[in-house]
Amino acid sequence: MSTPYPHLLEPLDLGFTALKNRVLMGSMHIGLEDERGSFDKLGAYFARRAEGGVGLMVTGGFAPNREGWAKPFAGKLSTKSEAKAHRRITAPVHEAGGKIALQILHAGRYAYHPLAVSASALKSPISWFKPRKLGEGGIKRTIKAFANCAALAQLAGYDGVEVMGSEGYLINQFTVDRTNKRGDRWGGDFENRARLPVEIVKAVRAAVGPEFILIYRLSMLDLVEGGAPWAEVVELAKRVEAAGATIINTGIGWHEARVPTIATLVPPAAFSWVTRRLKGEVAIPLVTSNRINMPDVAERVLATGDADMVSMARPFLADPDWVNKAAAAHPERINTCIACNQACLDHVFERKRATCLVNPFAAYEAEWRVEHAATPRRVAVVGAGPAGLACATTAAQRGHQVTLFEASDRIGGQFNLAKRIPGKAEFEHTLRYFEHRLAETGVTVRLGTRATAQALKDGGFDHVVLATGVSPRHVNLPGGDHPKVLSYLDVLRDDAPVGDRVAIIGAGGIGFDVAEFLAHKQPDESAQGYYAEWGIDTSLAAPGGLTEPKPHPVDRQITLCQRRPGKLGANLGKTTGWIHRSSLKAKGVEMLAQCTYLKVDDAGLHLEVAGQPRVLPVDHVIVCAGQVPFHPLEAELQAAGIPVQRIGGADVAAELDAKRAIRQGTEVACAL
Ligand code: FAD
Ligand code: NAP
Ligand code: SF4
Repeated sequence: MSTPYPHLLEPLDLGFTALKNRVLMGSMHIGLEDERGSFDKLGAYFARRAEGGVGLMVTGGFAPNREGWAKPFAGKLSTKSEAKAHRRITAPVHEAGGKIALQILHAGRYAYHPLAVSASALKSPISWFKPRKLGEGGIKRTIKAFANCAALAQLAGYDGVEVMGSEGYLINQFTVDRTNKRGDRWGGDFENRARLPVEIVKAVRAAVGPEFILIYRLSMLDLVEGGAPWAEVVELAKRVEAAGATIINTGIGWHEARVPTIATLVPPAAFSWVTRRLKGEVAIPLVTSNRINMPDVAERVLATGDADMVSMARPFLADPDWVNKAAAAHPERINTCIACNQACLDHVFERKRATCLVNPFAAYEAEWRVEHAATPRRVAVVGAGPAGLACATTAAQRGHQVTLFEASDRIGGQFNLAKRIPGKAEFEHTLRYFEHRLAETGVTVRLGTRATAQALKDGGFDHVVLATGVSPRHVNLPGGDHPKVLSYLDVLRDDAPVGDRVAIIGAGGIGFDVAEFLAHKQPDESAQGYYAEWGIDTSLAAPGGLTEPKPHPVDRQITLCQRRPGKLGANLGKTTGWIHRSSLKAKGVEMLAQCTYLKVDDAGLHLEVAGQPRVLPVDHVIVCAGQVPFHPLEAELQAAGIPVQRIGGADVAAELDAKRAIRQGTEVACAL
């Protein structure tokens, strides 16, 4: 059968075993690894992805010993009884026809506990704990622990292991000068710094025999000062191959790097060129990764010869059926990962179970599924923003007869504004997905129809769900009606002309986004623009791949203001807030905390900053001061005795985001 993705769907022969396609589900910690008694949930999670057709999966990281824990009592595999528990993961995966490898991750100085060890006693910028320098005996025990962990993984039924040698974890801490200041045979010249990974791979191979997949995750681009020069990356790859690796996977950027490598603003497949540079240097298959989320991108990467396989992690949270949908030539049905990190990585950093903003069932497969409704009903959903879309499609999937009303001429609600922000264009994928999902589930969609209470009463609906969203909060300020004052809707929805000097009131997610939107009249969203802005050396001449950032010149002078003290954007996502702050800083955006707004007049915005009076002589003041719920139909419907429920922004506007809107819409639909 012909397919648009021949390279992606081609099997990969590893000699002793074959993978059914070129898709690796990359390691992604979801929190269940560390929860007692949660392996049945992990088993259901991975089995669901195996059913979805992925060629090979890698678990989140498991430590080979206690020192290697990422945090106290994190997932570890060092005993036979622990190995027995892992059968709850491997058995369902194999029943579903999948293959799975266990990732062995030693956190080194990234550990959040006092047992942390490293090459040298140097604290990392992202953990409070200073590591202890491993001695000769400690290093030998660590190598043995990796080999023991791999043998136990084999006993537990895994098809292989991945040795985590990148992202700045222990092995990486040994391979570069930045963190390895040793003078013994494990530090100093490359020969010595490469010894730990090579000895680990040799020991693992000896422990598991020849017919077991051994992936080595190689840090190809450290993106930190004092990172590895390219020549050392190539040489390490050769030695790892000679030591017994089956596959080399690509690692990009240490966790402490200040270059975004997986956020939405990172262009598709932005790092496959790095993997390509290694092609021909080793004979074993190479896997590339980072920001590959759709089959056309993956196919292009493979067809142009950048790599032999593609790794995706978050896209499988968003859609477990990704591969099957690609194989059926229906990419439009894929629920695409938009790289927001809001429900996956941010959750992990907040010590909550990871899930997915666009797929709230992710990691809850064993506990939550869509059941057919016992009594099908006539349901009206009012508002086709993220909450209404999730509710309408889930309710229809359950067998309800659903009509979705949307006042504007398109679905998506505020996501239509979000996708206009530079770096967020991929939010469009979610709207494309829902567009198809509405048709597949048989929802009757009434665009350009502002539902009224009367029309809903006349429609004979058994149940009405109000997903009517929010209204921007008005700020009561003398001069609040001055022509200089605009709301974010004027700017993002109605394209109001904006002058070159701007003050923004409110530094939440929308204030930051509006600043990003206004900084460039014509934003450069090309891959070259991204490399230049963040100082990524694509010539690979500089060790670690860093060079001087060259931000695109900005077109406007912007001041972002908030009333509270402290850093601006403190409530932005844990793993993305720093990117937004760095990006605006590089664009010269002034950030003012402790503001008291006094008035707006022809001179501009008058305010006090930490008690000091100041006038910002701006052309426009843009109000991004949060939002309030909008649900004008509720009272009349209730009075008419129609069961009515609010979801998303219509319910609670404070701290609303699409994650909550989609989850709540789905939950309400599941309970109808
Ligand atoms: P809305 O999206 O507001 O949708 C409500 C819908 O109801 C609208 O389409 C409206 O036309 C319709 N409607 C109202 N009344 C009626 C009626 N009587 N009849 C028919 N239709 C009606 N969230 C994130 O999680 N991550 C982000 O990165 C992010 N970025 C954002 C960037 C910007 C610039 C903006 C503005 C928002 C962003 N958000 C983000 C917030 C996110 O978009 C909202 O949380 C989400 O859209 C709320 O969904 P909702 O369905 O409750 O409401
Ligand atoms: P928000 O995050 O609640 O921010 C509102 C801002 O307005 C705050 O800076 C607040 O801080 C200020 N403010 C509140 N009341 C005010 C008043 N009366 N006068 C002056 N200033 C006032 O809301 P938002 O920016 O509108 O975003 C809406 C939702 O969309 C957010 O909850 C967010 O999660 C989501 N979103 C997320 C992202 C993302 O990247 N994840 C991006 C965009 C939007 P002070 O009170 O200190 O001034
Ligand atoms: Fe992707 Fe966002 Fe879902 Fe994470 S939460 S998997 S980044 S869409």
